[in-house]
Amino acid sequence: MIVYDKKYDVIVVGAGHAGCEAALAAARMGQSTLMLTINLDAIALMSCNPAIGGLAKGHLVKEIDALGGEMGRNIDATGIQFRVLNTKKGPAVRASRAQADKQLYRLRMKHVMEQQDDLDLKQVEVTGLVIEGDEVVGVDTRGGVRFLGKTVILTTGTFMRGLIHIGLVNYPGGRAGDLPSIGLSDGLKDYGFDVGRLKTGTPARLDGRTIDFDRLEKQYGDENPIPFSFSTERIEQPQVPCHIAYTNPRSHEIIRSGLDRSPLYAGIIEGIGPRYCPSIEDKVVRFPEKDRHQTFIEPEGRETVEVYPSGMSTSLPIDIQWAFYRSIEGLERVEIMRPAYAIEYDYVNPIQLHASLETKLVRNLYHAGQINGTSGYEEAAAQGLMAGINAALRVQGKDPLVLGRSEAYIGVMIDDLVTLGTKEPYRMFTSRAEYRLLLREDNADLRLREKGHEIGLVKEEVYSSFLAKKELIESELARLSKERLTPSAAGEDLLEEWGLAGMQNAISYEQLLRRPEFTCQDLSRVYPAIMDLPEQVREQLEIQIKYQGYIQRQLEQVDRSARLESTKIPDDMDYGTISGLSAEVREKLARFRPDTLGQASRIPGVTPAGITILSIALKARY
Ligand code: FAD
Repeated sequence: MIVYDKKYDVIVVGAGHAGCEAALAAARMGQSTLMLTINLDAIALMSCNPAIGGLAKGHLVKEIDALGGEMGRNIDATGIQFRVLNTKKGPAVRASRAQADKQLYRLRMKHVMEQQDDLDLKQVEVTGLVIEGDEVVGVDTRGGVRFLGKTVILTTGTFMRGLIHIGLVNYPGGRAGDLPSIGLSDGLKDYGFDVGRLKTGTPARLDGRTIDFDRLEKQYGDENPIPFSFSTERIEQPQVPCHIAYTNPRSHEIIRSGLDRSPLYAGIIEGIGPRYCPSIEDKVVRFPEKDRHQTFIEPEGRETVEVYPSGMSTSLPIDIQWAFYRSIEGLERVEIMRPAYAIEYDYVNPIQLHASLETKLVRNLYHAGQINGTSGYEEAAAQGLMAGINAALRVQGKDPLVLGRSEAYIGVMIDDLVTLGTKEPYRMFTSRAEYRLLLREDNADLRLREKGHEIGLVKEEVYSSFLAKKELIESELARLSKERLTPSAAGEDLLEEWGLAGMQNAISYEQLLRRPEFTCQDLSRVYPAIMDLPEQVREQLEIQIKYQGYIQRQLEQVDRSARLESTKIPDDMDYGTISGLSAEVREKLARFRPDTLGQASRIPGVTPAGITILSIALKARY
């Protein structure tokens, strides 16, 4: 091996959504960073749906942005249709989603990376890790160059031993059009990593010129598109519509006629797939009573005719794909530009990670993204960001940044992964978070900007505008609780209209805003200046006042569990020496090696009694 003459602080393997955030975070924190990828033309490429956000995923993007990551700004600049989902529901589950111009998204991210100081980009396949003692010190690459680094982050996505399936045909690939990564996962196994096999799938990309859009239902974005990033002022670019189509009983018949040549049903695919994102053949088999399934026909960009039929992923043979897509109304003449396929790939069980995403087996080695068994761009980006931050903090000799379950969805996801591990693709859902009302999209900056600034990722100008917003919210909350509406000032007509006829005593503006349907717009009739406040501030006033009681209750729950969460368990804890632990609890703790008492309490099979004994043992140790 030829040793490259520059030694890096952080080496990032992979340029998907995890790799990009990891490399940008490390370089922005001042570390000399190298990003290696099999294909530099596929930086931040969306392997599947051309969209960012959605339920719980939108929360992750806002959190990435609040900490100083790039995903939010990238989609704001390249999105072609923005929508806020669940607007009729409570603020905890409202979520942003945007269709992306897939090629623009990739190109802008590449541009941002190329402009970043302290970041080198190179196209090469990593074939193995260089490990000395129990520490990683670099990577070896195909082509015979060794790169040395103080820390290494693996973000290999679906590429390790990737195997693409279309019907009974299969061939190695990292995703359609990309080479697989060969050798790396065998090396990981040799170091004791628990390497497993997962599977995912994607629909065909269809030629929009051969679709009769006039016969499909149109779906438009929001009239006033709301950006993802807290620092994007507005979305300037025009939006494009999506279209809705449906399968029918004939489509299902065609699908059933191909099942004997489906690699899933013929038992050729051994990896476990995402249960919440089933292929169309899975849906047809599992729900035989349904006579149609909906698909959104999503444009892949403004400058291409390719469209993406969401929810129609399949690994059925190509002749079945032709017939099935053409059985859909409006798609009778459709041409497939890229066939649908499934892919199997190696992942590493995340139970072997600390909450910092550093591996427990090899020091200074971090894993992030799909390699940890997750699925989704946002999940990958969020982990990449945290791995990049923590590798940089390690080089700086500082403690890692670990977000709690009450602080961020990112904290919930990483805690789930490292505490419970996963045997099937993991994706984020709002139901995974126990403190949903605290972890809203709208307050991600209030939760995380400070931390992003502390570690040096959030720039001064962004931080000072955040501080100004925060102060404005606080001073307005104080004003609203102090200012009162008197019956005489309101006048009888307004009191009647507001259902307050006969009111005797003055009522605070805060009490008015607490009423369920009452908005800042209503309040402006007696306090016109409220409409001069920025929209984000008015939103906070409404939410914080209306949900104050519930928020308070969740904060009290967080307080109660704070002691468990902050009690650290040393890496070298010998569970064999703690008397009183049952054999099962002892075995679970020794296998999962939790970082904190809180984490230990979430391991299935670890009882409250076991936690009490462990907590006494920890006290005795210090
Ligand atoms: P990726 O985006 O896969 O990027 C991996 C990067 O690592 C690439 O840049 C690659 O070149 C590089 N790399 C890998 N190995 C090496 C090596 N040895 N040396 C150098 N570079 C290397 N997500 C969903 O949420 N829903 C879906 O329905 C869905 N369907 C999918 C279907 C398919 C067919 C595929 C391929 C993916 C699908 N995904 C889906 C997953 C989504 O694409 C990923 O979750 C996301 O892209 C993961 O990001 P990542 O950064 O971890 O990895």
